[in-house]
Amino acid sequence: MQTAMRGQASGSGCTSGRQARGHWSRRSVRERGALRVVAKDYPTPDFQSSDTYQEALSLSTKLRNAPRPAKPLRVVIAGAGLAGLSAAKYLADAGHHPVVLEGRDVLGGKVAAWKDEDGDWYETGLHIFFGAYPNIQNLFKELGIQDRLQWKEHSMIFAMPDAPGEFSRFDFPELPAPWNGIIAILRNNQMLSWPEKIRFAIGLLPAIIFGQRYCEEQDELTVTEWMRKQGVPDRVNEEVFIAMAKALNFINPDDLSMTVVLTALNRFLQASVGPRQSGEQHGSKMAFLDGAPPERLCQPMVDYFKARGGDLMFNSRVKQIVLNDDKSVKHLALTNGQTVEGDLYISAMPVDIMKILMPDPWASMPYFKQLNGLEGVPVINIHIWFDRKLTTVDHLLFSRSPLLSVYADMSTTCKEYADDKKSMLELVFAPAKEWIGRPDEEIIAATMTELERLFPTEVRADQSMAKILKYKVVKTPLSVYKSTAGREKFRPTQRSPISNFYLAGDYTKQKYLASMEGAVFSGKLVTEAIVEDWSARGVTSSAASRQPALAAAGVVAGSAAVIGAALVAASGAIAGGM
Ligand SMILES: Cc1cc2nc3c(=O)[nH]c(=O)nc-3n(C[C@H](O)[C@H](O)[C@H](O)COP(=O)(O)OP(=O)(O)OC[C@H]3O[C@@H](n4cnc5c(N)ncnc54)[C@H](O)[C@@H]3O)c2cc1C
Repeated sequence: MQTAMRGQASGSGCTSGRQARGHWSRRSVRERGALRVVAKDYPTPDFQSSDTYQEALSLSTKLRNAPRPAKPLRVVIAGAGLAGLSAAKYLADAGHHPVVLEGRDVLGGKVAAWKDEDGDWYETGLHIFFGAYPNIQNLFKELGIQDRLQWKEHSMIFAMPDAPGEFSRFDFPELPAPWNGIIAILRNNQMLSWPEKIRFAIGLLPAIIFGQRYCEEQDELTVTEWMRKQGVPDRVNEEVFIAMAKALNFINPDDLSMTVVLTALNRFLQASVGPRQSGEQHGSKMAFLDGAPPERLCQPMVDYFKARGGDLMFNSRVKQIVLNDDKSVKHLALTNGQTVEGDLYISAMPVDIMKILMPDPWASMPYFKQLNGLEGVPVINIHIWFDRKLTTVDHLLFSRSPLLSVYADMSTTCKEYADDKKSMLELVFAPAKEWIGRPDEEIIAATMTELERLFPTEVRADQSMAKILKYKVVKTPLSVYKSTAGREKFRPTQRSPISNFYLAGDYTKQKYLASMEGAVFSGKLVTEAIVEDWSARGVTSSAASRQPALAAAGVVAGSAAVIGAALVAASGAIAGGM
């Protein structure tokens, strides 16, 4: 979702910071004088002094310095999304040998991307990296790829539904959080009036006073219910939180848990107070990766763990988790007929797949039973290549339109996709429940109608202005877990009651919601659990007795009890949406 245009682009539909602070006017952008958008990358923020970065760093250090196992454990990880790759990377750091099994032939899971016949990339999702992602920033540094994040101006930019082509900005000054966020909100008078801002601020007081504990306690309320309970006017919800809810979890505030919004605000506006100054002022800064995630982020992770004794196998879809008599895992049976054995096993597959593959003897155990409370949410990611360069903004934009969530002109925001002559808009279509089953042509037609409002002088639904050169629609019927009210209690920890089986994934318990940061962090947490459980012991006799074939056995062709082909096919659709 990010941009990286060389030089300067003029004629942006975005109002300037100065205009944003002034009185709302319905004069056209042209009448007011268009903002000159300086399309450039901003310096990598100085994360290293922040408490959150230091915490992430110390967990990395703990894993790297963990007691070396008597013999490296062969840890079989199902799923090469960010959680599985992160687990593999940190297990390699801890001296173990990860073997990642990926069902498809592409890395990244929900950050997967493909090249079309012209060599243009299309992606599962428009992805933004926030300053509030300490484990990701840490990971980029450890892999030596931190220059691949293209940081953007410290702003949040919202389209104005009643003023086609106009945008309203929240510009964050270079001050410590939460003051930079407070000032950004106070300076924007277009979206919220002063009484509305004051009511909202009063509503937020308990969250400020009681912190994360209060945020977590609000999980039983939707955003809309919480706003009403706190006396916040409905207009605040309409102006800000419909867009926020769609961006955070692809659903509306009537469904989204308030914990998600409060947690995001907490992470973005982390206060620099307390015994040690956190130095956190970059949480709400946004960056785009400079190219496609499988090559620019996932491959370096694979290179890293392969260089340390790990392995990765594509087209290795788990069909069944085969158990020993004591309910521990004996091996994983793949759809291609192979059997994969290890000392330990991690599922880094999406929760919907884990539910399908759940062995019967586990299904009634409370730890596994709770997964039934979680389910992926549908979302659609759209790419439209136009025959010309549209009015461009070098940033993520909140569309505030009924069908769309966030979008960006990737030909401006991302180096590898850069094009000075033609725009490629990447748009997240959400909520997608009613649309996921419809043909691509219908989805594109509906998107074009919404683009008329966002680009009133350049786009018409009938293409009488900008023409579509080509498009790609990527549907993910079950993406990240749907964070409706009351889901938190169903999120499992990484350590399961089964001694040789663990879970990783953005849906597992960690404090960063269903996000790339959450996925990477879950990979570190599962490694920490394994290190605590096993590193000091190496392969104990009890582990060995449960798993007769250890590392040397590797992958063996074999027959395992077969789950129906329909189930396996379903697992493919759920996993990738492609
Ligand atoms: C449209 C969209 C936009 C997003 N935007 C953002 C954003 O801006 N910022 C952000 O932080 N996050 C964003 N996210 C969320 C983020 O992508 C996810 O939280 C994260 O990538 C999840 O990683 P994961 O490893 O937990 O799961 P996944 O990425 O789902 O990985 C699971 C892996 O398991 C594999 N698998 C499935 N079944 C099997 C099987 N039977 N055998 C073997 N392998 C199997 C899958 O193929 C996949 O590779 C977005 C997601 C989407 C869909």
